Amino acid sequence: MPQTRFQALTESRNRTHTNISETGKRSDLFAKNVFNEEKMLQFLTAEALENVKSAILQGTKIDRKIANQVAEGMKAWALSLGATHYTHWFQPLTGSTAEKHDAFFDLLPDGRAMEKFGGAQLVQQEPDASSFPSGGIRNTFEARGYTAWDPTSPAFIYKTTLCIPTIFVAYTGEALDNKAPLLRALNAVDEAATAVAQFFDKNVRKVYATLGWEQEYFLVDKSLANSRIDISVTGRTLVGGFSAKGQQLDDHYFGVIPARALAFMSELEKECTRLGIPVKTRHNEVAPNQFELASVFEEANLSVDHNLLLMDVMEEIADKFNFTVLFHEKPFAGINGSGKHNNWSLATDTGVNLLSPGTTPMKNLQFLTFFVNTIKAVDTYEELLGSSIASASNDCRLGANEAPPPILSIFIGKQLSDVLDELEGVSKGKLSPQEKTELKLNVVGKIPEILLDNTDRNRTSPFAFTGNKFEMRGVGSKTNCAKPMTLLNTIVAKQLTDFKKEVDTLIDKKNLKKDEAVFNVLREYIKTSKRIRFEGDGYGQEWQDEARRRKLSINKNTPEALQVITSKESIKLFKQMNVLSEVELKAHKEVELGAYIFHIQIEGRVLGEMVYNHIIPAAVKYQNVLLENIRGLKEVYGAAHKKVAESQLNILEQIGEHILNIKKLTDEMADARKRANGMSMMDKKAEAYCENVRPYFDKIREHSDKLEKLIADEFWPLTKYREILFSK
Ligand code: ADP
Ligand code: MG
Repeated sequence: MPQTRFQALTESRNRTHTNISETGKRSDLFAKNVFNEEKMLQFLTAEALENVKSAILQGTKIDRKIANQVAEGMKAWALSLGATHYTHWFQPLTGSTAEKHDAFFDLLPDGRAMEKFGGAQLVQQEPDASSFPSGGIRNTFEARGYTAWDPTSPAFIYKTTLCIPTIFVAYTGEALDNKAPLLRALNAVDEAATAVAQFFDKNVRKVYATLGWEQEYFLVDKSLANSRIDISVTGRTLVGGFSAKGQQLDDHYFGVIPARALAFMSELEKECTRLGIPVKTRHNEVAPNQFELASVFEEANLSVDHNLLLMDVMEEIADKFNFTVLFHEKPFAGINGSGKHNNWSLATDTGVNLLSPGTTPMKNLQFLTFFVNTIKAVDTYEELLGSSIASASNDCRLGANEAPPPILSIFIGKQLSDVLDELEGVSKGKLSPQEKTELKLNVVGKIPEILLDNTDRNRTSPFAFTGNKFEMRGVGSKTNCAKPMTLLNTIVAKQLTDFKKEVDTLIDKKNLKKDEAVFNVLREYIKTSKRIRFEGDGYGQEWQDEARRRKLSINKNTPEALQVITSKESIKLFKQMNVLSEVELKAHKEVELGAYIFHIQIEGRVLGEMVYNHIIPAAVKYQNVLLENIRGLKEVYGAAHKKVAESQLNILEQIGEHILNIKKLTDEMADARKRANGMSMMDKKAEAYCENVRPYFDKIREHSDKLEKLIADEFWPLTKYREILFSK
């Protein structure tokens, strides 16, 4: 546990580890610990299986009798794999996951012991909700919170516990978690998209949102991480001089994965495979000791659960290999941070990706419909979508010339831009036969070929179309994907609902044919959503200026970005789509603001502690060494010592200056914190933390980093960047 820098360095250098050889087919291991259909066939009655399947597909309720049967089957399966406990696994608004384990073991009234698990335990639990954030929902209503089984995400066994994915709601039904709103948003997009997909294919009964995430992270030696209070408490470094070698050489990206990291990955992948998480790609990222793990896309709710589970599993396995995983979006200044790209699309139950062009003009018109509607949705609700990825830690990364700026824009590539330009020129109302032929053959008909060789990719775009899906790139590495996914699916649901209405009106009132009506509405959308499309460099200052001209939101910080959540439009949208009520929106905003405040408050306290307990004492120690030296020189050289000791005197003076400044700034920061803490309104308090407390972090850091350069290595107590970043 916490030890000095030098003990930590010795320990990290002495690590021995064995390479793990990867043998065996992963597919044999896949979902071994998941209660999926295959296990249900084995452990459930035909009646129970039918009921669960229809709950998954049609959202039907499962009655108590059936729930008992399912619980019996689940228990038998779990015991057969050695599970001893069960838990409702949920996602409180803290952003991570929560669980409370209960043993299957129980005593009967006559004193006999047995393993018990019934429908009641499966369907609903009442965890002590009082320590989870509720944004005031529980004060206004009832203190109790319930977790309720989500049959669309299968139960799984992690270590010796049967985990049942659940939603977490207040007694009165308000969502206290991130999953309940997500499920409602997925339901909304299913309804709206199914209705639109039926324009093109009457057989479509259901539309699923799909999500494929790419998780970035840092792996740091555990002893080195623990030797720094900032990393162990806040997940990032608050001070630290740049290392002479950083990522300039770009020699880490896609390089050979170091042996210990590879051993970790290999064990991690095995565990993920057992848990049914379809991890697929692993590689080094841009920064030293930074990596990425990507999964195969899945239905969005399942994929969100899998990402959260992955993050938990990663921490456990990293520990085994003496690593600490850093999920923070910007653990090291001057070195690239981590994100979590969210690849998103819509798929039908007939097996069609609605954002993938097909072989017939009609299929491509369908593609265009979903493509243009998504663009339109993002244009209308760009600010709201941005709020879903705002957090104190992601603020450190967004716009830092390595990640998308906090402005939403969409990149679609030149060829698709050309297609949209051509469609914009389509004449209004009825189309002549020539126009139709021209459109179908030369514009719509050519899309698949276009996409095949559409290789231009713009890594600076926060929302890019990449061939058959949109990729949302601003999402933070720590963020629960449920948040952006709830937002994106809600706005697309709303947009598709409006689209359907407009098309139906044109068909009914103007007597247009279906494809003419679709073209007409799309043309208007293309015209009115143009400002969101941007093909240039998203990192440059020119884009900021241009975005301002286009009246796109530029919310540079989280307290600013969160304001829109309770705007009139937002309340209307979420209510109409049945995703979040006004009470829930207000509560969720409170929770986000609260999280922001705590985050900055904790960082401020840790920084203050580092300055007083580590940095100043180290500086003073070294000052004493210099003083001793100067005193000695004076003894020998008398008045002439000033010349002989010139450098020492100069360093002494610089150190003195920095100590004075760093102490003054740290005290000022503490005062700013006190003033902020005295505020009662959450938004004002968050704003005060953002504008009056946070700016001190960089100022303080500057002096600390200068001191780090001046002070002899043996006196510096904090493990240095180069030591952390280049340990293997
Ligand atoms: P990148 O170049 O960004 O690394 P990849 O081609 O490796 O892109 O794919 C990134 C992610 O996109 C993967 O997780 C993949 O499963 C996901 N993806 C592919 N098709 C879809 C889709 N239809 N819906 C959602 N995600 C998808
Ligand atoms: Mg990507």
